[in-house]
Amino acid sequence: MTPVPSDIEISRAQMPKPVNQLAEEIGLLPEELEAYGRSKAKVRLSVLDRLHTQPDGKYVLVAGITPTPLGEGKSTVTIGLVQALSAHLKLNSFACLRQPSQGPTFGVKGGAAGGGYAQVIPMEEFNLHLTGDIHAITAANNLVAAAIDARMLHEATQSDKRLGINKTDPATLTPQEVSDFVRLDLDPAKITWQRVVDTNDRFLRKITVGQASTEKGQIRETGFDIAVASEIMAILALADSLADMKGRLARMVVGTSRSEKPVTAEDLGVSGALAVLMKDAIKPTLMQTLEGTPVFVHAGPFANIAHGNSSVLADKLALKLVGRDGFVGKSTQSMHTDSVHELRNLLCTFSVTEAGFGADIGMEKFFNIKCRASGLRPDVVVLVATVRALKMHGGGPNVSAGAPLPKEYIDEVYRATFMQTNTHDWPQTCTKNTQITITTDNNMSNLSLVAGGCHSNLKKQIQIAHLFGVPVVVALNVFKTDTQAEIDLVCQIAKECGASEAVPCSHWAQGGHGCIELAKAVNEAACTPSSFQFLYNIEMPITEKIRTIAQKVYGADDIELSPDAQAKIDYYNQQGYGSLPICMAKTHLSLSHMPDKKGAPTGFVLPIRDVRASIGAGFIYPLVGTKYQNKKSTQVEVQFSLFLLREKDKSKLS
Ligand code: ADP
Repeated sequence: MTPVPSDIEISRAQMPKPVNQLAEEIGLLPEELEAYGRSKAKVRLSVLDRLHTQPDGKYVLVAGITPTPLGEGKSTVTIGLVQALSAHLKLNSFACLRQPSQGPTFGVKGGAAGGGYAQVIPMEEFNLHLTGDIHAITAANNLVAAAIDARMLHEATQSDKRLGINKTDPATLTPQEVSDFVRLDLDPAKITWQRVVDTNDRFLRKITVGQASTEKGQIRETGFDIAVASEIMAILALADSLADMKGRLARMVVGTSRSEKPVTAEDLGVSGALAVLMKDAIKPTLMQTLEGTPVFVHAGPFANIAHGNSSVLADKLALKLVGRDGFVGKSTQSMHTDSVHELRNLLCTFSVTEAGFGADIGMEKFFNIKCRASGLRPDVVVLVATVRALKMHGGGPNVSAGAPLPKEYIDEVYRATFMQTNTHDWPQTCTKNTQITITTDNNMSNLSLVAGGCHSNLKKQIQIAHLFGVPVVVALNVFKTDTQAEIDLVCQIAKECGASEAVPCSHWAQGGHGCIELAKAVNEAACTPSSFQFLYNIEMPITEKIRTIAQKVYGADDIELSPDAQAKIDYYNQQGYGSLPICMAKTHLSLSHMPDKKGAPTGFVLPIRDVRASIGAGFIYPLVGTKYQNKKSTQVEVQFSLFLLREKDKSKLS
């Protein structure tokens, strides 16, 4: 087989069709499109009104097993699948992807446009700037930060009653209301809002502001986050209309007053300005795959402190657009293969979206947070696995978060790591200095590692999807070094573990043609009604919701709340935030909180070291801890901290 060219060579070799042509093919009216150059355009939300009687297509979520640090191919499978559905099977389909941050794009992870012959084009436009949404979020976020500091300065230096006039007509206020409105009395030690920038600028993580003499000694320590970690990004992803976004922006809590009252963006008087700054960002951006099929790129919340999915609005638009006639067969462009495969008796149309990290994180949040916000119900989960990750879960070398990546994982020859004949010699943890003797022999010990990974992590992730009542199709993302025996074994065990179907996919090397069997399997599974249900009742106490996720999804025996975490939960209950869903901030490298524990760990207690809230986005996010008690109450230090978690996510968007 000829070698696959580099991603950028493939991307540049294909001329995208003009975006207005693509829009016409998928049934958008000219007035519903706002072109940004030749190959991308924003789509107006009025489409939802025009198509409100149109039935939705089938809703497909691409999730993954617990990944290696390199990612197992969820983005490429998402794109390969829609290429197969639209360009080869002639079934309407749309992909909805997250917009990447510049942090990961210029870091270890690289861009997020897919790879090989399964990509969104033009790759540079997808990965950088796009239509300016992240810049709008940065502007809005930093307006809030500026308003906080200006407010504290004015309150500290004058008792200016005019501070309250943007909230309501001061003439109508009682004396008590005047005093309530004009003084927010923010406690500088309890401000939770940070400034943001879309660059991995590590030296900005902790800064001191207010040092100019004009700020009259109002000096305080604060810091920068990466822009996509802003709560405004999570709001963009979860809002289902401009009015909903405006309400969520107004409700964002930026800190606490000295009398322990939450202070919101509305209290600061900036929520209207935020909505104006975000008025274009709320429209999804239309792009295309290498094979000319439509893609919405919209929002890019991380999958730890946020829910890690693209936007509710993109999904809603896509589900309506795929449902209409005339779309089939037009929105395709021949790549390196033009074979068309006939399907009989299968009538579905699809919107395919991707959840970050492993299914225990991205899929759980997609169901419990995003589906709750949108009211949409998923039909099929595609669970992406690779032989390399399954071998890691079956006993291969681990990689610790924050440690240098082993050369074997990065180079083309990384798989050779797993090809040793003597597995007993494997180190527990690889470092860049790890020396490993390799052989290309595919003997039984390698297959037993694959089987071990299937019976632990793959099986558990399938079971998690089944907890929600959604059928699972396993997509084995095939690498050129995988053998037929390995591929057959994964597919066989996946079906034994409850997958509706399990198929090898070679979209990276072959484009949509390499995902035809997956597309057929997804189509088949979508024809069976899914019986979706949430994992927990939203009215359950916060602690019980956390415990349910820890026990049913991660396999923990129980949770352990630190005193800080318990105090925050009490405070959130008191403020009336107890009915929000939970967004766990946990390592993505293990089902447990211990990144080096692969497979499906059991016998652990999940430590919750703190609990925070994104009130505007509408979720509580527990921070899974740095220490834990195991069953025998042994204190164990885990080499993982929130600091590393943030580091990790600044260099990898999964
Ligand atoms: P995820 O979305 O799970 O993080 P991606 O789809 O972004 O993973 O893939 C991670 C990286 O691996 C990308 O650079 C992609 O091009 C590459 N990749 C994915 N599948 C294959 C494959 N079958 N062969 C070679 N490289 C692949």
